[in-house]
Amino acid sequence: MASLSVSLNLNGSVGQGGKNQSHDVLAVKNRLADLGFIVTRDSIVNSEIIDIIKLFQSIIKGETTIVGDGRIDLNGPTLKFLQAANAPQWLEMPKGSASEGFINHDERQGDNHDFGTNWMVETIQAAAQIYLTVYLSSHPTAALIQTNDLSKPKGGITPVHATHQTGLSCDLRLPRKDGQAGGITFRDAQFDRDAMRAMLKAIHDQDKYKIRRIFFNDLSLTAEGLCKNAPSHDNHVHIDIISPQPQ
Ligand SMILES: [Zn+2]
Repeated sequence: MASLSVSLNLNGSVGQGGKNQSHDVLAVKNRLADLGFIVTRDSIVNSEIIDIIKLFQSIIKGETTIVGDGRIDLNGPTLKFLQAANAPQWLEMPKGSASEGFINHDERQGDNHDFGTNWMVETIQAAAQIYLTVYLSSHPTAALIQTNDLSKPKGGITPVHATHQTGLSCDLRLPRKDGQAGGITFRDAQFDRDAMRAMLKAIHDQDKYKIRRIFFNDLSLTAEGLCKNAPSHDNHVHIDIISPQPQ
């Protein structure tokens, strides 16, 4: 999923209140579309592209809710990251499989919260590889990592989460002793704490992206420093990552 840095050669600002010269707008929209963001490849400035610029600005600031002024200024941080080799890509969470160590619950559920940054996706993929090697290889009947909601197809506000607006958040369903996942809290006898511990360690140990925080209320695992308490996190794990610097 590596990409190359690009030079957009803008003559003026693009977006909310920008100069919006048509070839500049087209260059920005083509770049965002190449990165997977859902924009049309034309030189029209409308609420769609402004919302996507705000999404992009929120991602590069590491925010989990939408911030940003919706404008790309010459010499500003948004243009710098838009041209960077590690510019965030926007994609659907892969389906996953036993051989990858994770599966994507949204793929079955179809609740439209399946999109996020390649940064979050690669964090899960890297953690799942560690979980496969360190734990599943010796506990073959344990549950796979099971991801649930990331963000909506165009990001932005979602009624079912306080955050999850920018593709930097992902939830996990709780592993069960029967090898399945979800439908329980940490208090349930079916909860597989050892598998959960191995998953959380793998998330902390992967070195693709830095972890900002993990919310989950299990008493033992919080005492071990693997996660932190937060309201409404008895029945799932919530992960936020930190945005890297542009390269
Ligand atoms: Zn969450």
